[in-house]
Amino acid sequence: MATVLYDRDANMKVLEGKTVAVLGYGSQGHAHAQNLRDSGVSVVVGLHEGSRSRAAAERDGFAVHSVDDAVKNADVVMFLMPDHVQGTVYRTSVAPNLKKGAALAFAHGFSVHFSQVEPPKDNDVFMVAPKGPGHLVRRMYTDGRGVPCLLAVEQDASGHARELGLAYACALGGGRAGVLCTTFAEETETDLFGEQAVLCGGITELIKAGFDTLVEAGYQPEIAYFECLNEMKLIVDLMYEGGMGWMRYSVSDTAKYGDLTAGKKVIDGRVRETMKTLLADVKDGSFAKDWMLENQCGRPRMKKWMQQEKSHPIEAVGKELRAMMPWMDAKSAPDA
Ligand code: NDP
Ligand code: MG
Ligand code: MG
Repeated sequence: MATVLYDRDANMKVLEGKTVAVLGYGSQGHAHAQNLRDSGVSVVVGLHEGSRSRAAAERDGFAVHSVDDAVKNADVVMFLMPDHVQGTVYRTSVAPNLKKGAALAFAHGFSVHFSQVEPPKDNDVFMVAPKGPGHLVRRMYTDGRGVPCLLAVEQDASGHARELGLAYACALGGGRAGVLCTTFAEETETDLFGEQAVLCGGITELIKAGFDTLVEAGYQPEIAYFECLNEMKLIVDLMYEGGMGWMRYSVSDTAKYGDLTAGKKVIDGRVRETMKTLLADVKDGSFAKDWMLENQCGRPRMKKWMQQEKSHPIEAVGKELRAMMPWMDAKSAPDA
């Protein structure tokens, strides 16, 4: 079982007199910068030239610096820009300006674990990864509560990296909820596997396969949409609140019997073998290499696949049906 730490385990003095540079002011950046500042930590924000987030950071009362300048005075440098740019930003703007002994911090292990960022041996490297989106991290903090965080130490040059990381997590509000100890490898590999096999890849294909099966058999797409996509939220909410037991307790006995007889036929041994292959590709770095190459050549396959996904009939029928749901603030993704 994971070791869980709380505010009472932290030594907040290790952040006293230190300056944290928050690089990026998006989902995570705005929450880290504001929560740390409200916890009494000195924060500077670093953004690239022409950043769209600059206005938000300034509106929230931060002086916005270039990444180079933000790093120059920082004792902790927190990387909160998209993972695929972190390597380049590190090499061009962070490494040349890094103070001796400054700690490098991350909210996801991708760039360190897959060697996009190769920190000098004499710097501390830690991760504080909130298990929720930035707006929730901010809202919980202002409510006097917090979002659980993961804490990991990749390099402990000072002998105090874990103490510093825990203090950072607590300044973010994580110590009110619980800070779970992990490693960069565990966080990164499980995160990538989860989004591929279950959360994003697995679920979208499962929904489409169910929808296509019904529509090809002659059922109306509207009805197929309700059964295969819309109702997913009801089921997930039940599992989120009370696990699979609560979901099964809440659905009809017929649904429960169908669940128990059919589920293992859909997610059969072959699917489980495929999941093992996906995990192997994540662990040996094949996926990371493929993703960085895709970025380097301008994302040609990703753009093509996104276009194909957009034209799947479930998207058109979903748009029409969501317009009939007055309680919903229906969203539409901008063109990629
Ligand atoms: P976002 O895409 O929301 O924000 C990225 C920010 O970085 C924006 O402010 C963007 O500016 C800025 N940025 C882009 N390029 C550069 C650059 N070259 N130099 C400096 N800043 C730059 O990212 P997230 O907050 O989602 O992710 C940040 C990190 O947090 C990632 O490592 C991610 O894996 C991790 N994480 C994210 C979670 C989430 O819920 N979103 C949860 C836990 C971890 P601009 O406005 O101009 O684009
Ligand atoms: Mg992820
Ligand atoms: Mg039903």
